[in-house]
Amino acid sequence: MRTVSPSVSLTRAAALAVRRGHPWVWRQGVTSGIDRLLPGDAVRVLSPEGAPLGYALADPGSPIVLRIWGKTPLDPASFSQRVERAVALRERLFANGLTTAYRVVHGEGDRMPGLVVDRYGPVAVLRTDGDGIRRRLGELVEALRVPLARLGIVTIIERVGTRKESHVVVLHGEPPPERLEVQEHGVSFMVDLARGQKTGAFLDQRENRVRVGALAAEKRVLNLFSYTGGFSLWAARGGAIRVTSVDLSAEALATGEESFRRAGLDPRAHLFVAAEAFGFLSDAKRRGLSWDLIVSDPPSFAPREQSVERALGAYRTLHRACVELLAPGGLFCAASCSSHVNAEAFVTTLDDAALGRDDLRLLELIGAPADHPTLPGWPEGRYLKFAILG
Ligand code: SAH
Repeated sequence: MRTVSPSVSLTRAAALAVRRGHPWVWRQGVTSGIDRLLPGDAVRVLSPEGAPLGYALADPGSPIVLRIWGKTPLDPASFSQRVERAVALRERLFANGLTTAYRVVHGEGDRMPGLVVDRYGPVAVLRTDGDGIRRRLGELVEALRVPLARLGIVTIIERVGTRKESHVVVLHGEPPPERLEVQEHGVSFMVDLARGQKTGAFLDQRENRVRVGALAAEKRVLNLFSYTGGFSLWAARGGAIRVTSVDLSAEALATGEESFRRAGLDPRAHLFVAAEAFGFLSDAKRRGLSWDLIVSDPPSFAPREQSVERALGAYRTLHRACVELLAPGGLFCAASCSSHVNAEAFVTTLDDAALGRDDLRLLELIGAPADHPTLPGWPEGRYLKFAILG
C-alpha cells in the first residue's frame, strides 16, 4: 500500500454532503484527480478550498467513485478498529445468546462502505459492493478473523455470482454445511447458505417477525412474499389459526416447511403456496377469501431512482388488493425494502385514496433494527419500512 495517499478534490455540493456524513461521492462530485486512480486505492478527500474531509476507497469505474471511510487513514489498524466497533455493538445487542443470526457489519452504516457481513451461527457470509472494496478483501478478512472468532464464527465465506448461478467461496476456515439451523430470539429456523437469497435470510425483518408473532393469536394469517416463512413461523408460534405463505420460490417454501417441522409445528396444518402474489390475490378475491392479518414484504419494486413512480403504482395496487381481503377488524403489515422509496413516499401508498377506504389507522412505522445501523446524513440507508395498519 502507498504510504502517502493521493488526493481528490470535491465540488462544493459533494463536500457539503461528505461533511454531513454521506459516504458516497458520485463522479460529478469530483473536480479532479479521479482518473489516475485504481479501484481500491486509498485517497485523501479535499474540499474545494483544499481542506481535508477524510479518507476514501476509490472505485473510478463505478458511478459512485469514492466511498468515504472517515477521518483516519485507511490501513490495517483502521480496518481492525472499525471491525472491533461493529463486533462490540453486536456483542451488546445479542448478549443473551438467543439470537445467532444477525448482521455483524452493515457497510456504510458501520462506517465500512461496501462491506456486509452476516452471521449464521458459526458461519459468516460476506458480500461486497464495488471493485474498490473487493481489492481490499484480503486485508478485510484478516481484520475480521479474530473479532469474529470471539462471536464463535469459525468460517468466513463469500457468495459470488448471480442469484441463479452462485457459488460459495471459502475465505477462511472449514467449508460450511449447505444448510444450517440458527435462532432468532430463541426460535430456530433453517438457512440455505448455498442457494438462499441475499446472504441466506432477510435478517433486517427480525424484530418485525416478533411483532407479527405477537399480533397473530387466533387469527387467519396471510404472508405474501414469504420467502422461507420467517413471518409465518412467528405467526404460527404466536397462535395463528392457520397461516398461508405465498412465494414464487417452491424451494424457499420447502425450507419454510422444514423450519415449521423443527419448531414442532405441523406444516400440513398450514398452507404453503408457490404462486405469483398478484395473481394469488385476484384469485382469492374471486373466491371470496379473507384474512385477519396480512403481511406483505415484496422484493424492491424500485431498483433504480428512475423507476420510483412505477414502483409507487405497484405498491398501491398491491396494498389495495391486500386490504380488500382483510376481514373486519383485520391488521395489515406492509413492508418495502427499496432505498429509493422513502418513508413518506411509502405511506402515500397506504393512505385512504390508495386503499380506497377511510377506516384504517397507521399503528406503527418501523425501520431496520440496530444491527443494521444507518447514518443521519445518509438517507439512502433508511431503506426498510414496515407499516402496521389496523
Ligand atoms: N418476508 C421474507 C422476505 C421476502 S423477500 C422474510 O421475512 O424472510 C421477497 C420474496 O418475494 C422472495 O422470496 C421472492 O421469491 C418472492 N417473490 C418475488 N416476486 C414475487 C411475486 N411476484 N409473487 C410472489 N413472490 C415473489
